[in-house]
Amino acid sequence: MKCQSLNEFGGALIAEDRPDLSVSGSEVVLRVTANGVCHSDLHIQEGCYNLGGGQKLSFADRGMKLPLVMGHEPVGMVVAAGDEAGELDASKNYVVYPWQGCGDCHQCKDGRENYCVAPRYVGMHIDGGYADHLKIPHPRYLFDIGTMAPEIAAPLACSGLTTYSALKKVEDTLKKAPVVIIGVGGLGLMAVGLVKAMGGLPPVVVDLDPVKREAALKAGAQAAIDGAATDAVAQVQKAVGGTGVLATIDLVGAESTASLAFDAIAKGGKMVIVGLFGGSAPWALPFIPVKAVTIMGSYVGSLAEFAELMDLAHKGLVPALPTKTYPLDSANDILHQLEQGRVVGRAVLTP
Ligand SMILES: [Zn+2]
Ligand SMILES: [Zn+2]
Repeated sequence: MKCQSLNEFGGALIAEDRPDLSVSGSEVVLRVTANGVCHSDLHIQEGCYNLGGGQKLSFADRGMKLPLVMGHEPVGMVVAAGDEAGELDASKNYVVYPWQGCGDCHQCKDGRENYCVAPRYVGMHIDGGYADHLKIPHPRYLFDIGTMAPEIAAPLACSGLTTYSALKKVEDTLKKAPVVIIGVGGLGLMAVGLVKAMGGLPPVVVDLDPVKREAALKAGAQAAIDGAATDAVAQVQKAVGGTGVLATIDLVGAESTASLAFDAIAKGGKMVIVGLFGGSAPWALPFIPVKAVTIMGSYVGSLAEFAELMDLAHKGLVPALPTKTYPLDSANDILHQLEQGRVVGRAVLTP
């Protein structure tokens, strides 16, 4: 099999030829037909998250081992399966649920493998989709993509699921007040469409980029506000109207966006932080009880949420990210372009 291997944090990916993958038990090997290049792959390659104040969270300290084949948005066709894997259709493309857990911890037993204490995430702890073949431990992680193109289905595994799971956390507010979505790049546009699919009021979006704000309005947002405006908080509150801001989804996760969300949120509101831009919390502690605000993190989503998302996708209710496909050996080039903010839409490798 061919792969692009990360052999040292901070280094370039190395093209490698490895022995073919074998299967046993419930294992399944897929021929990879598409794998989305996610922004978090840049963090993995770098080996850390920025925690603000010069502090970093090191992946090596958190148990990530090299060499690693990155890629947590894989789609593929079954080429081999162990004798306990059951019947699988070799003519179909499947998207892989990548947030796999140990199966034994209390989170896994409660159906939240994405919060597993000893995770086995595809492309982070086990080899992922920057390769022409990929092995997964069990077919329950495979979802038929139906008539979707592989490059359209691939980003559902991370971008789509992340957005859906964040919205699920504030689902009870979506019909009462417009949710405020901060950051309307690809995930934000997906969120605007998902709010509609979930029966919510048209959201209010915030972004620095006028082009992105325009795109969000076209996608169905009821108002689009410039986060850099001096009165951005007042504008957000005015656009939401009567109930006050009951929920914010911060897809950026920077100090400036967290501040904006905190200042805009009404008493008893819920702030969901999704983005991993980095920094440290900017708010004063007494305001947390005084406003009785709930500050929640959301990290990807559960297997059950992915099944729900795939149902919506089959019904055509999940807006497709604009994607462009590239050969596997351009992975380094794509990551470099992504780092410089030069990738428009979603880059997908098609090995
Ligand atoms: Zn991702
Ligand atoms: Zn677990």
